[in-house]
Amino acid sequence: MSHFAALSELIGPAASLISDPDITASYSRDQAPFAESAPPFAVLLAKTATEISIALKYANENKIAVVTRGAGSGLSGGANSSADSLVISLEKMNQILEIDSANQIARVQAGVINLDLDKAASEFGLAYLPDPASRDWSSLGGNAATNAGGMCCVKYGVTSAHVRAMQVVLANGEIIELGKATKKSVTTYDLLHLFIGSEGTLGIITELTLNLVVRPSAPATLIATFPTITKAAAAAAALLQYRPSMLEIVDQTTLRAVEAWHPLGFEVAGSVLLMQLDENHSLCQAVLETCKSFGSIDGVYSDDPADASDLIRVRKLAYPALERMGATLLDDVALPITKIAEFVEQVEALSKDTNLVIGIFGHAGDGNMHPTIVHDHGDQAAAERAQNAFGKIIEIAQSLGGTASGEHGIGSIKPGFVANEISTTVIELQRAVKKVFDPNSILNPGKKIP
Ligand SMILES: Cc1cc2nc3c(=O)[nH]c(=O)nc-3n(C[C@H](O)[C@H](O)[C@H](O)COP(=O)(O)OP(=O)(O)OC[C@H]3O[C@@H](n4cnc5c(N)ncnc54)[C@H](O)[C@@H]3O)c2cc1C
Repeated sequence: MSHFAALSELIGPAASLISDPDITASYSRDQAPFAESAPPFAVLLAKTATEISIALKYANENKIAVVTRGAGSGLSGGANSSADSLVISLEKMNQILEIDSANQIARVQAGVINLDLDKAASEFGLAYLPDPASRDWSSLGGNAATNAGGMCCVKYGVTSAHVRAMQVVLANGEIIELGKATKKSVTTYDLLHLFIGSEGTLGIITELTLNLVVRPSAPATLIATFPTITKAAAAAAALLQYRPSMLEIVDQTTLRAVEAWHPLGFEVAGSVLLMQLDENHSLCQAVLETCKSFGSIDGVYSDDPADASDLIRVRKLAYPALERMGATLLDDVALPITKIAEFVEQVEALSKDTNLVIGIFGHAGDGNMHPTIVHDHGDQAAAERAQNAFGKIIEIAQSLGGTASGEHGIGSIKPGFVANEISTTVIELQRAVKKVFDPNSILNPGKKIP
């Protein structure tokens, strides 16, 4: 009997188990442009943890690779499948199970879309804070599996700071609970946080208990222009004293790309910083003075919510403006905030050496930068240079004390860079952890750890 037939029989007639190649192809990859993939032999659109448990038990016994899929918005090839694999998609497990406003928590199935939870929480005057730019289509399970970041993380922390508990299906099919719904718990080793950022390599997250908070008030928004990115980056470090709820940087290459598309008046700037304060709006003037002491050309602020979207437009347009110029490779590295300027200088030199446009923008407050390499569509030689430059950018960040990924994950495109920044002992420890949870290495094999 084929694996497909066996799985259909085990899970039962109600299962959404698909082998139609036109459909399985659409579940074979995420948004990473150069990661390998092939349509899986089947896709299970799971409706319950029990279905996942049955499928994993069978896959484990038969050593079948399993790729977990949230919404497929990932940028690291993490959800990419191979021809002999089974994809388990959580998209149908999209129920908000409970909003407990008194305890300020939500219990959700892992396929719930991030923004849907935030909207539901807002009806109680609460918010789910982690805000990846993909929040209107990425799943909370995917966010937890990648430990997703976003703009407000400079103040509120990344996804890991907002997860209290989860339900996980292990590789052998057993269903376990990790963490507690309580605000504090130190009863066990922190296996909960081991799963956050594990990128589908240790188990499948089926349910999450998440922190909600009282909805922050509408922020005041500031924008300051600087003659050079060095000055802007130095100012960014100083601005952390104001506890910004957003602190973003955009370099000159990206500003020019935006100007060419939507003139916003930044043609003379070498860089801009954008900042939001969701409390203490009265500090805005002091912020601009701090910017001035670091050589800013100009700065404005507004606490009118209607103005905020205009002021942050340049950051919102950064990636689409670069995308308009050609094919793009969006990188993701994190480094000490004090090293941003040096990092940018080295990436600019790389851009000259390789004759590739590289626009740089990112979450300055977290030192999380997204250099974006642009090359002509269909130019194979340039595409290869771009892929090479993608790796060089990671190495530049690592040489400055940074790390291969700040928020997008290692997936299938970055395991080769991990050993540059951790010892052999730590790699072996990671492999040993993987073996404990997934002895037959069926879960996302070849990804995350080298
Ligand atoms: C336009 C755009 C903007 C983005 N902006 C940001 C950003 O600001 N910050 C940021 O951090 N990321 C960002 N991303 C990347 C991406 O959205 C995140 O990595 C997101 O968390 C992935 O969620 P997903 O549901 O799409 O997961 P998928 O892409 O489906 O999967 C991602 C990884 O998690 C695993 N996985 C998914 N669900 C589960 C589960 N339930 N259990 C176990 N493993 C699972 C998969 O196997 C895979 O390894 C952006 C992507 C795009 C396209």
